[in-house]
Amino acid sequence: MSEEKVVIFDTTLRDGEQSPGASLSITEKLEIAQQLAVLGVDIIEAGFPVSSPAQFEATKIVAEQVSGPTIAGLARASEGDIEAASKAVAPAKKKRIHTFIATSPVHMEYKLKKSSDEVLKMAVQAVKCAKNFVDDVEFSPEDACRSEMSFLIEILAAVIEAGATTLNIPDTVGYVLPYEYGRIIAQLKSDVPGIDKCIISTHCHNDLGMAVANSLTGVRNGARQIECTVNGLGERAGNAALEEIVMGIHTRPDFFASQSTGGLSTNIKTTEIHRTSQLVSRLTGFVIQPNKAIVGANAFAHEAGVHVDGILKERTTYEIMKPETIGLGGSRMVLGRHTGRHGFVDRCKQLGFKLTEEEIEHAYQRFSEIADKKKEVFDEDVMAIINDEVRVVVEQVYELQYLHVACGTGTLPTASVKMCAKDEVKIAAACGDGPVDAAYEAIRQATGQSPKLENYSIKAVTSGKEALGEATVRITEDGRSYIGRGISTDIIEASAKAYVDAINRMVSAKGKGDQPEVKVEL
Ligand SMILES: [Zn+2]
Repeated sequence: MSEEKVVIFDTTLRDGEQSPGASLSITEKLEIAQQLAVLGVDIIEAGFPVSSPAQFEATKIVAEQVSGPTIAGLARASEGDIEAASKAVAPAKKKRIHTFIATSPVHMEYKLKKSSDEVLKMAVQAVKCAKNFVDDVEFSPEDACRSEMSFLIEILAAVIEAGATTLNIPDTVGYVLPYEYGRIIAQLKSDVPGIDKCIISTHCHNDLGMAVANSLTGVRNGARQIECTVNGLGERAGNAALEEIVMGIHTRPDFFASQSTGGLSTNIKTTEIHRTSQLVSRLTGFVIQPNKAIVGANAFAHEAGVHVDGILKERTTYEIMKPETIGLGGSRMVLGRHTGRHGFVDRCKQLGFKLTEEEIEHAYQRFSEIADKKKEVFDEDVMAIINDEVRVVVEQVYELQYLHVACGTGTLPTASVKMCAKDEVKIAAACGDGPVDAAYEAIRQATGQSPKLENYSIKAVTSGKEALGEATVRITEDGRSYIGRGISTDIIEASAKAYVDAINRMVSAKGKGDQPEVKVEL
């Protein structure tokens, strides 16, 4: 009996990016895709190419530059969508077109306004059309779990006949419970003619908190591909979390062993899980809740005295996974004021950064400034410096040159700023409810931009009283949102930088005339 593989299909860049407010730039998508390749995912769904020029471009760049995983593009069941997807994934060595159409009575009647016969015809045509461009074609009957079983069997048999190689069974609205989902997969596996030639896939949403449980139950019943996202990002309550799926399979191989298989495994390099999760959280601006399974800050923290005592005596008393397995702990290198340029550059390389001469110069300069204020600089600090400040992904139209804030008990918080906009210098002063509010008002006056502030958070990059603060803000204007980040040992300065960063991203997106995209749910 040999071990069987479960294919990990990551849709962080497509379904995950549809989380309200999680929009990523093309450079950021590429950075995540490169890390997903290091993590070892089998398939990256890089985007929905027909929906906008930016989506097309992002999918194409990932297809050109990321090697290892298969690159998939999403397409509705129409020729235009499929052609756009095929062009976008064309540069990839391994490519897939993922096409879909809704099959539930409510979706067919009210959304598509089509009969089931018409839907079946469209599905078959779409798969045949995709086959003209690629061998690897995935088909999804959207809202499968609320579709009639007899129609599901009929349409899946027809698309297999037309050449589909992976059949994905989405619980689009996150409605079913594990037992039901398992039964659906088992019945399809036994009743759809020709399904043995295909891989059955899961795609579960988390509206009832069942996404991971449903996906794993699907696997127990014969599915061999799981669609998931890093940190469980996705529409509404999100998708199945990649890290939970992978560690579930990794930690409980006994549960997945059966008479037909000697157990299941994935190609994921688990030691890259933590790094990937952090990167996605940082770039999307979605903070991870501390008690989140696997990747939350408290997931491996044992504080209660009795637990700590047990762990010291024998680790497995209260720990079912080792932190090192997901890439936590180990040596946390410390740099400081006396670290030379050479040592710093070495550390950056070890952390996986490939920087240009110019970027190294900028990073080292910022590192030196921070090392002067803070005795110890950790890996996390170096990563924050490079990710937030050195890798500038948009043109910096506005630059914060000077910030002064006065506040205290019984005084009105007041801020003054000096901003540089291209060659023009602008100065403004304002008061507010607090120091951050005052600083933001001054920045609004100096830039003449007044987006709505949707979300603001600040956290320490590492522990300790001299920790770097990282501020993340989300602003919206005309229905689109933009995320900005800033770091500093001073949290007011970090907050101001984050706000200016978000405004720069907004101005840059408007300059490019990015149109709101067509959104799909699957
Ligand atoms: Zn989805």
